[in-house]
Amino acid sequence: MRAGILNPLGGCSQGAFCSPSQCVKKKNGETWHQSQLVDQELQQLLEKVDADLAQEACQKGCLFCHGKLHRADFDRKPRGGPQWDRRYSFCCAEEDCRRRRTPESVRFLGRRVYAGLVVVLISVMIHGLKPGRVRRIREALQIDSRTLKRWRQWWLDSFVRSSFWKAARARFMPPLCERTLPLSLWLSFELEERQRLLAVLQFLRPITTPTAWKELAM
Ligand SMILES: [Zn+2]
Repeated sequence: MRAGILNPLGGCSQGAFCSPSQCVKKKNGETWHQSQLVDQELQQLLEKVDADLAQEACQKGCLFCHGKLHRADFDRKPRGGPQWDRRYSFCCAEEDCRRRRTPESVRFLGRRVYAGLVVVLISVMIHGLKPGRVRRIREALQIDSRTLKRWRQWWLDSFVRSSFWKAARARFMPPLCERTLPLSLWLSFELEERQRLLAVLQFLRPITTPTAWKELAM
């Protein structure tokens, strides 16, 4: 395979999430969470991880016939976060196979228009806040209330019931509180903030493929 075929796609820095003046200023961590959403080093790190995952998948070839894989990326229309508009994906080059292979991702949670880091960070950030403060954050980030409610339900219902979580939750000792997901998951990774976000997104990787997403779609 040619080197450099999977150079991370550029252009994400153009769509900064919100300008500093739009950000809600708080001393209790909200500002930090929001700054993560525009942290370009973090975005580049996530792009690098995804590029590596794609490279690895590509090198393994087709899982069904061992044929070569060709790039066949998905278009995405991202909202409320980094402007990642393509998700790495491949198609088998063999005429009678053509099966798709989409590698796991730390940037995209299934088919959502919001990047994984937006869904995780906002869900963690608004946990336990009074409605007025949630509304201000929501307005600053231009996410409507139905979307936030859907995310909340997704963590409490689809995610908790998923076969992924039923297997993965055994790794946490003491067990994580399922009523406070994803905050409890977030707190369980005792790492420096940027590393913590990466660790949570890495943990969620197995549920980011189209196959896994069938069970988890909202
Ligand atoms: Zn194939």
